[in-house]
Amino acid sequence: MSGLKLKCCKCGNIMETLPSSSQDVIIDEETGEILYWNGKKCGYRPADCLVCEKCQEKAC
Ligand SMILES: [Zn+2]
Repeated sequence: MSGLKLKCCKCGNIMETLPSSSQDVIIDEETGEILYWNGKKCGYRPADCLVCEKCQEKAC
């Protein structure tokens, strides 16, 4: 997973690492896209649409 640049799609903050909850990864069967777990509120989201932990606390 090295070299992965993740930007919060809410505040634009660059995340050095995935949010701690986002170790859980699935592959969308329809699109083949990798989806990361982004918390209970956000559910599974693609890498370019992840939300940082701070924004997760507010809303998704
Ligand atoms: Zn954010």
